[in-house]
Amino acid sequence: MALSQDRSQELFQQAQGLFPGGVNSPVRAFRGVGGTPLFIDHAQGGYIWDADGNRYIDYVLSWGPLVLGHAATEVVSAITEQAAKGTSYGAPTALESQLAVLIRELMPSLEMMRFVNSGTEATMSVIRLARAFTGRSKIIKFIGQYHGHADLLLVQAGSGVATLGLPDSPGVPVGSTQDTISLPFNDLGVVEAALAQYPDQIAAVIVEPVAGNMGLVLPQDGYLQGLRDLTTRYGALLIFDEVMTGFRVAMGGAQALYSVTPDLTALGKVIGGGLPVGAYGGRTEIMKHVAPSGTMYQAGTLSGNPLAMAAGLATLRSWSQSGVFERAATATTQLINGIREIAAANNISLQAASVGTMFGFFFTDTPVIDYASAKTSDVARFARCFHALLERGVYIAPSQFEAGFVSAAHDQEVIGATLHAFTEVLALL
Ligand SMILES: *Cc1c(COP(=O)(O)O)cnc(C)c1O
Repeated sequence: MALSQDRSQELFQQAQGLFPGGVNSPVRAFRGVGGTPLFIDHAQGGYIWDADGNRYIDYVLSWGPLVLGHAATEVVSAITEQAAKGTSYGAPTALESQLAVLIRELMPSLEMMRFVNSGTEATMSVIRLARAFTGRSKIIKFIGQYHGHADLLLVQAGSGVATLGLPDSPGVPVGSTQDTISLPFNDLGVVEAALAQYPDQIAAVIVEPVAGNMGLVLPQDGYLQGLRDLTTRYGALLIFDEVMTGFRVAMGGAQALYSVTPDLTALGKVIGGGLPVGAYGGRTEIMKHVAPSGTMYQAGTLSGNPLAMAAGLATLRSWSQSGVFERAATATTQLINGIREIAAANNISLQAASVGTMFGFFFTDTPVIDYASAKTSDVARFARCFHALLERGVYIAPSQFEAGFVSAAHDQEVIGATLHAFTEVLALL
């Protein structure tokens, strides 16, 4: 059954002499599952093709951004039309305001916003803003949550840090993280205790409202509202990192789904439609502190890049049309229910969840509510599952500690073929 991956192997060999580990972002290297990463040649809709010409159904979707699937016609046209008019001006454009208006319609808590070039930049900047606004230094984050790779947030982080089992990265000086308090997710008691211990020192609590970087872990009932109440009581800001969940768990993000309004939000991924982008925003009163209207400095040569704005705008316009998100969300539910049933029929212990168009499953019989319980998962079994799926033309994230994504291009045929592959694979494990 093994596919030919000669060309990917050749390319990987060359890349290893050019890039650390052969990649430009760690999780791409397949270290969590072993084997050679696929080098991608092209993609369309719900499918990607590797350099050897093998076709796969794609549940990675560039780690979330591609809600319409690959190379959606309207996104490709928007990019090519804009490219012909110039790729960057370093001056304001109407496109930035158009995208901001659409984002604010969908996520009204972003009364004002600032575009940046990545999720990392968004979270890093939003923390600087929270500190500037409150005049406080400490921040609370949650173990197994990933907010990009800025020094101060690289403490007990998820995603690649979790996959590779890295401790806090060398090169991050103690001084950068001494004000970062890292606590277990889904436990309000520890948050209250930390706020009570430093009542006037905590600038913000930053949270992935639905955790997607330790695998998919949902907030427990009342947890997000509890964070809202506690931060308000102690004068700290509540920051939702919706870089992954924004326009994915619901059109209005987790803040709409759970009806909890953060003070500030970080965005990325979907709003760039597959081009590099990020944004942070929130209450006007707070955002006014950003330069040049205020004194908190933050800038970017390519920020609000017209190609990224055009791609994001085309993506969000289609994605917010009536029924599009709902159909993809229904396909996601169908997929995860199918996986759950197949696992049960094979007596495989599995914790499976989905929300909107994100899904995830863990090979464990322990309910997964935080990073410690996520780590009870059988990662060797996951690796076998990953490779067996790949051989059958289904590409999921090459790590137990990443979420899966469904797009508008994942139609009944795609979901059916995926469940067929799972039926064969879970019978083997
Ligand atoms: C992907 C991600 C980031 C980082 O975004 P980049 O664009 O990779 O820098 C930050 N926060 C969350 C929740 C993410 O999923």
